[in-house]
This record gives sequence, structure tokens and C-alpha cells, in this order.
Amino acid sequence: MSSVLALGECMVELAPTGGGLYRRGFAGDTFNTAWYARRLLPADWSVAYASCVGTDAVSREMVDFMAAEGIDTAPIRRLPDRTVGLYMIALAGGERSFSYWRGQSAARALADDPDWLDAALSGRNFIHFSGISLAILRPDSRERLCDALACARAAGARVVFDTNLRPRLWEDEDAMRAGLTLGASVADIVLPSFDEETALFGDADPAATIARYGGLGAGLVAVKQGAGPVVLWQAGGGATTLTPAPVPRVVDTTAAGDSFAAGLIAGLAQAQSPREAAAAAMALAGRVIRAPGALVRGAIEGGAAR
Ligand code: ADP
Repeated sequence: MSSVLALGECMVELAPTGGGLYRRGFAGDTFNTAWYARRLLPADWSVAYASCVGTDAVSREMVDFMAAEGIDTAPIRRLPDRTVGLYMIALAGGERSFSYWRGQSAARALADDPDWLDAALSGRNFIHFSGISLAILRPDSRERLCDALACARAAGARVVFDTNLRPRLWEDEDAMRAGLTLGASVADIVLPSFDEETALFGDADPAATIARYGGLGAGLVAVKQGAGPVVLWQAGGGATTLTPAPVPRVVDTTAAGDSFAAGLIAGLAQAQSPREAAAAAMALAGRVIRAPGALVRGAIEGGAAR
């Protein structure tokens, strides 16, 4: 069976419902991408998630939720003395802000067992990871994860890297630059956001971002710019600019990039051209931002598991 694997950290989400009450959910960038990919791809594709969780009740509930959503949870390792991370959303005047408790989360041990890691990565058609998947690891574990990804890539997997900068998760800016460069150097497909790239690397324009990631060995780079155009570059094919359809009332941009990644992977997995896949990814992201929350069920038009 063909398969997509996403790898990283899923967290407990507490979203306010009013009066000091919160609704519990589960979300996290790479998990969100897996969730959208599952709903976009036909049933003859498996979509798996690789991470570490604890053995406590909330860890079990997280894994049960993933399984109920059609995600293959076989590559989830359970660690007896750990638990999952948590974030809480605060709403003030319509603006969302986030508080995190993830310093000791089990997912930080993601690359600690090389045999488990190799088994999780083997035989995949696509492997998706992000700057957050790397940021939560110790520096030596980042190297170990990227070595394993490079081996999986050499064995035929297409590795997708969503840069997803989170300055507070990295030791400092130098570590973040080095980590992103390391991650991109093992990827076939890199999905940066231009505002982050210009802030961290000083890129003058999307062409500079493309030149850097193309130079590290990527064959496909999609530079996202929110409501602005996506600049899509293919090795040997040059760059094209795709403009997102305007979204008149943006409700919540959470998971815009995560759903974009899923749309692109699902399109490429089904033999669409990069341009077609990117157009579908943009259309999906444009629907996701019209509704609150990371996982927007109504945003999907096709796929097996609705
Ligand atoms: P990220 O969340 O990774 O920073 P972006 O915010 O650039 O990514 O959003 C990813 C994609 O979502 C964009 O390329 C675009 O297709 C769509 N998108 C995001 N914000 C808007 C918006 N305000 N209007 C229309 N489309 C948007």
C-alpha cells in the first residue's frame, strides 16, 4: 500500500468556549497535515503519524482520536514516564494567543531510538516533517533524525519539509538557522513562508529563498506569502507565481500552512503536476481559514475518510 508518514508532535488543545470552560482537542502542525492528507487521499493510501506519547489516559485518548480519524498510529511509541504537551488558546478582542506546556513532552524523544525511527520511516512514499519537529529535539537528536530521513530519501521516499519557524523553541537564532538548513538539506520539497525567511535569513525576495533551498538540494520549493502569491519553483523548470483567490472574511489562519502542505502532498501523490497540486493546496488553505480551529472538517471536498 502507498503511504504518507508525518512525523512530529501532536498536543492537547484547550480552546475557550466561554465562562472559563474549555473544549479539549488534539492538534499540532505535522499532525494537522496528516489529518488533512487522510481526508484528501483515497483509501488505497495509508496516512501514518510517527511520534512519542506517554502511557497515561490523555496519551491514550490522543492516539485513539488519531485512529478514529483514519490515521495509522502504528509508528507511535509509548514512553511510560512521559506525557503529551498541551496548549491553551486565549481570546482577547477577537485575537487568539497561545500558551504552551510542552517542555517535557514525550515527542522530544522522537529520535532517541534509531531502530524504531528507521522502521517508522521505511517503505514510505512521502515523509512530512517540520521546523517544529526539529526544534523540540536536542541538537544531537536533530542530526540523528536528519540522517534517518536522508537514508529514507535515498531509499525512494519523497521528503517534505515545512519550515514552520518557532523562535521560542530553539536555543537561539543561530541554532534555528542551522536547524532549518539541516532540515532542508534532507528534503525534496521545502515549504517556507516568506515573512519568516526574510526575518531570519534576510532574504530580499522569494527568489532568494528559492535559491537557498534549491542550493541545498530541494527539487520543489513553494514560497507562501499569506494572501499574497505563492512562488512555486521546480528544479530545471523555473518559477511560476500562483495567486490565491481572495478570502473576504478570514476567521482563523491556524493550519493554513499545514493544510497547504497536505493539499500539495495529496496532489503529488495522485500524480498531479506541482502546479496543479499547489493550486489545490491553496484552495484548501483558503477554505480552512474561513472557519475556527486547526481541523476544519467542512474544508474537504474529496477523499476517502470524510
Ligand atoms: P503559513 O501558515 O505556513 O505561514 P501562509 O500564512 O502563507 O502559510 O498560508 C498558506 C496558504 O494559505 C497561502 O499560500 C494561501 O494559499 C492561503 N492563505 C493564507 N492566508 C490567506 C488569506 N488571507 N487569503 C487567502 N489565502 C490565504
